[in-house]
Amino acid sequence: MVPRIIVAGNGQLGQMLQQAAAPMQVRVMPVNPAGEEPLELNDSDVITVELEYWPDTPRGLQLKDHPNFLNATTLHSVIDRQRQKSLLDRLGVPTSPWVSLGAAEGMAEQLESLGQPAIVKRRRGGYDGRGQWRWQPGETPLPEWADECIAEAMIPFSHEVSLVGARNRAGEKVYYPLTRNWHQNGILRASVGNLPVPAEQQRLAEQWLGRIMDDQNYVGVMAMECFVENGHLLVNELAPRVHNSGHWTQAGADISQFELHLRAVADLPLITPEVYGVTMMYNLLGRDWQPRWLSVPGAHVHWYAKEIRPGRKVGHVNVHRPDVSALMASLKALREQVAEADQCVFDWALAQV
Ligand code: ATP
Ligand code: MG
Repeated sequence: MVPRIIVAGNGQLGQMLQQAAAPMQVRVMPVNPAGEEPLELNDSDVITVELEYWPDTPRGLQLKDHPNFLNATTLHSVIDRQRQKSLLDRLGVPTSPWVSLGAAEGMAEQLESLGQPAIVKRRRGGYDGRGQWRWQPGETPLPEWADECIAEAMIPFSHEVSLVGARNRAGEKVYYPLTRNWHQNGILRASVGNLPVPAEQQRLAEQWLGRIMDDQNYVGVMAMECFVENGHLLVNELAPRVHNSGHWTQAGADISQFELHLRAVADLPLITPEVYGVTMMYNLLGRDWQPRWLSVPGAHVHWYAKEIRPGRKVGHVNVHRPDVSALMASLKALREQVAEADQCVFDWALAQV
């Protein structure tokens, strides 16, 4: 019997896990973990997450205390950037130089010790670039950074990539090829999946993510975001869940990251996904979509049915084609149909393929 899977979090990731489960009739129940009312859970249920943090409401505690609540240790490490950076250091996984900011008096010296412009990040609760500040040598640090933040050296990367992989209880691990990502103001605008990547980069990234997942006895999909600087990878951060940079696998792989996660957490066979063609994922940030986009070959819309607010992730479009020249044609066609301010996303993608 495949267990029922309870997802803490009922945003788009929970929704897409549910969609991936539907053909197999696997029961996936996304819930709001911040709700007050306890749920009717069975001991055979498996609890997984689509977000890393929620308050200790009666339901929130019920989920965390369930015997099959997965990856508690990893969540504990990852929700706090200081603990996450320490984990990477302990496992010998290269990451940008960092310091933990202490009392207000010493902050300027701590920042100077990084020897270059820095990016200050709140230890907890940041996402999509929120809770981050750029700092230049000579500037006075903000008092609110004291004791709450870490600072990292600003990395002059050439581009960003991420690795999405999965591990099951038996310790088997599988990975997708590195995805190329473009962030603007800290938020993911687009990804391209299945571009050629140097074999050594892929090998190292798999080795590091594998080491992290093994160390944590992790079960499910994990994403590892990296900077590429002079051809070398540096890990930026970890996401202990399905991840926006893996959405292209819905169109470009025979097993999407959502199905892969379900296979891992429900002890279904975990095999390396077959990846084909080339796929661009375009995030809809505070924008509606137009039915005529569907006339572009290979375009698939995923709409999250959320209220449209400026900059908010409300959907994504996967454009999947069998080869680069066909993808370029589709990207050029879609570029002409999106809001002018989003055309740069297609210019970026066209320059990558
Ligand atoms: P996510 O939405 O992925 O959870 P986040 O808000 O947690 O994002 P980060 O991934 O830490 O934030 O940073 C967002 C983006 O800001 C990065 O993808 C990168 O483009 C830029 N950035 C972050 N840290 C650095 C750094 N040390 N050097 C250069 N750029 C950085
Ligand atoms: Mg990030």
